[in-house]
Formats: sequence, C-alpha cells, structure tokens
Amino acid sequence: MTNILMNLKHIHEVINRVMRDCQSTDKPVQLVAVSKYQPIEKIKQAIEAGQYEFAENRVQEAQEKWPFIRQAYPHLPLKLHLIGPLQTNKVKEAVALFDVIEVVDREKLAFILHKEMQKQNKYPTCYVQVNTGEEPQKAGILPQDFDQFMASLRSENFSVSGLMCIPPQTEEASLHFALLRNLAKSYDLSDLSMGMSADFEEAIKLGATHIRLGTAIFGERDM
Ligand SMILES: *Cc1c(COP(=O)(O)O)cnc(C)c1O
Repeated sequence: MTNILMNLKHIHEVINRVMRDCQSTDKPVQLVAVSKYQPIEKIKQAIEAGQYEFAENRVQEAQEKWPFIRQAYPHLPLKLHLIGPLQTNKVKEAVALFDVIEVVDREKLAFILHKEMQKQNKYPTCYVQVNTGEEPQKAGILPQDFDQFMASLRSENFSVSGLMCIPPQTEEASLHFALLRNLAKSYDLSDLSMGMSADFEEAIKLGATHIRLGTAIFGERDM
C-alpha cells in the first residue's frame, strides 16, 4: 500500500533541502499533486495529509471526480490545475472547474477561453505551455513562435501569469527548465510550472515555483 502521508512528508523534506542548498530566498515551491487516474479515495488521503493543490490532465475525468471532492471539503482552499490538452469544445467546463489552466498554447484557444471567462465572470489563472523540446506529438507553443504568441495575447488583453513545460523524456531536463525560465524572465512572468517526480530537484534549482508530482506521491499509476 502506498503511504501518501509519508510520501508527502518526504517530498517536503527534499524541497526544503534543495531550497536550502541553493540558498534560495524565493517563496517556497508549491507542490501540485497530479491526481490523474487516481481514485477519489486516494485524493482524499492526500487532502487529509494537508495537500490542497492538485492537477488533472483530462477535463472529463476531473468533472467526474472534483465536484464530489470539493463537496466533501467545503471549507478547505482546494485548488485544481489543468495540465493536459484543452479542446475548444471543453472550454466552458474547464473555466467552471479549474483554478489554474496551464495549457494555453494557441490563439484560437486563448480567444475562446477569454470570451468564456467573461461570460462566467470567472478568471482562472492562465499559463502558456511551451513545447521546449519541439516534439510534434506534444502540445505547447514552439519556442520560435513564443514572442509572436505573447504579443497576440497581450493585444487581446489576455492575462498570463506563468509558463509550463514537459521536457522530452530522452533529454536533459535542466536545459528545458533553463529555457523556460529565460522565456518567463523576458516577459516578467512570475510562475514557472516545471518538474515532475523524476526531475523536480533540478526544476527547483532552476527556479520552479510549481512542481507537478504524481508518482512520487501516489505511487505508480495503473495506466
Ligand atoms: C502525469 C503528469 C505529471 C506527473 O508525472 P509523474 O512522473 O507521475 O510525477 C506532471 N505533469 C504532467 C503534464 C503530467 O501529465
């Protein structure tokens, strides 16, 4: 059986050690628990261990789980991130459900998101996903298109507060983290969502503000 409480405790120890080692004066890194494919029971165990910030990668799965979870803890400041591809026909549900949408990566999506946020008068925090590895199968704006994309978001008054990336599995993640950090710096964006179970220490050293951990908290996923 996975001991979620022990795993969380261990991860916080690692975070504190890494922050101390690089003598970081930044605010503490936010641990985001990736709960995709995890049953409600396990998510509740994490919440009861003090973990309040989560991420899902599919709108539909999140819709099937999170209304029930939120209902069970009406007084806790639970926060939910979307970290998987967002189709425009799911924007309405996504705006209603998520507090942070990390996957803004094309003009059409931003446009529809913006309209839907105004309609619902609900403004989730938005990050731009960057395909730092330029992998064809992966979502995210390509680095060479980034400046133009940011310019078009600004001209639409679409507010972005951070960047997110998923480095290629076969490459040194730190190169991608450094690229993402530099892009964020050049636009004065404060949030950097980078680092997963296998590479989060590197990500923290390179300035991550949010690390997204699934396996390290919940154990191996069944799928
Ligand atoms: C699944 C997933 C994670 C978590 O991966 P682990 O290796 O289990 O920590 C992080 N980010 C994204 C975008 C994911 O899809």
